[in-house]
Amino acid sequence: MAAPDFDVAIVGAGPAGSTTALSLLRELPALAGRVVVLERARFPREKPCAGALGARGDALLAELGVRVDVPGAPIDGIALRAACGEASASPGRVGRVVRRFEFDAALARTAVSRGVTLREGVRVEGVRDEGAEGVLVETGAGPVRARVVVGCDGVGSVVRKALGLGAGRLRAQVVEVDTEPVAGDLARSMLVFDASDRSLAGYAWDFPTVVEGRPLVCRGVYRLKVDGDADDSGEDVARRLDARLRGQGLDPARCKNKRYAERGFDPAARVARGPLMLAGEAAGIDPVTGEGIAQAIEYGVLAGRFLAGRLERAPAGRLEVEDWQGALSRSRLARDLRIRGAFVRLFYGPERAEVERLLVESPDALLVGCQHFAAQPYDWLTVAEVVARGAARLAAVRLAAALRR
Ligand SMILES: Cc1cc2nc3c(=O)[nH]c(=O)nc-3n(C[C@H](O)[C@H](O)[C@H](O)COP(=O)(O)OP(=O)(O)OC[C@H]3O[C@@H](n4cnc5c(N)ncnc54)[C@H](O)[C@@H]3O)c2cc1C
Repeated sequence: MAAPDFDVAIVGAGPAGSTTALSLLRELPALAGRVVVLERARFPREKPCAGALGARGDALLAELGVRVDVPGAPIDGIALRAACGEASASPGRVGRVVRRFEFDAALARTAVSRGVTLREGVRVEGVRDEGAEGVLVETGAGPVRARVVVGCDGVGSVVRKALGLGAGRLRAQVVEVDTEPVAGDLARSMLVFDASDRSLAGYAWDFPTVVEGRPLVCRGVYRLKVDGDADDSGEDVARRLDARLRGQGLDPARCKNKRYAERGFDPAARVARGPLMLAGEAAGIDPVTGEGIAQAIEYGVLAGRFLAGRLERAPAGRLEVEDWQGALSRSRLARDLRIRGAFVRLFYGPERAEVERLLVESPDALLVGCQHFAAQPYDWLTVAEVVARGAARLAAVRLAAALRR
């Protein structure tokens, strides 16, 4: 029987992978040298992402004693453009915009400094559960054997495929470019979400960014593909971004936009089987906005703690991690993602106009969103008022529709 090379193999060194490793070693320092992260790229590497990181993500890293010091643009609030008007909330520092090129490399370096083995330029091609012998991870650089494998390999996850799962029910097409600022831009410290085009199940964004010291603006379009939506090509989002750039006085031909995918969290989907488990976008992130960095970090913190507990109880032999499904499901992260999932129908469904009106007329709702993004304490009275106002408005609209019939 071949002894496993590692206790834990983590596939992917994005925020989910590096945080899982950091969290695991924080709980069980004796695992130094027994945790490997397999990353197909070499750092620093590009990761398509607008880079808006809520202070919630940094607060979670701080719990692990980690501070990722990279250049960035501060975020002080959120602005929403809707078909019926505009609203904003700017309660002060709620996060920062980072470049993933720098952020992910720095986070991975921190993990290495704490005893994680990072193998860069190693693409995982397949994962096979070999029973008592552990999991065989097939890579372009030869096999790796581990007791448990955590799939933190993002939207195209190979580990997810090994679990026999499809791409997921809630997927999004995204396109983005970095451009110079234009006269119509709001204050640089605001994240701007433009949902004024109701034919788009999604929004366009303008986020501040700093690229090699230059203050630029990351502009993009997010489009959620809801069930039955057949357009997988991403051409629609690219066309919409071109039109928007033209409207902003920018020349789309000068901006090479690229299309990407994102996966929303589906509470009914499996995230573990035998010795395999998923975290981060491999499992699923916020489907409403596509926010995923802080979520990936939170997945990592949870996955590391979960695994530490399991490894402590079973220091050798086969390790099954199917109870990750329940542990995740009971977590604050899963509750948050379930709530966001429920908002998909509200934001992008037939009652969208009402929801927009509510957001525009009571900016307190955006304030609550900012507080959540930043992990600031809620003013529960404000939250209760926002929920009560929303529920009353929707109930009235539904009643009026029923009476009309
Ligand atoms: C255009 C765009 C804009 C976005 N903007 C934002 C934003 O502003 N704010 C926000 O919060 N979220 C944003 N997101 C979402 C966010 O980028 C992701 O949700 C987040 O990166 C997920 O982190 P992760 O660690 O789970 O996966 P990833 O960051 O995708 O990391 C996965 C890692 O796995 C590696 N990998 C993949 N396959 C293999 C393999 N077979 N073998 C070895 N390694 C592998 C990859 O190279 C990568 O390093 C955006 C996404 C896109 C596409």
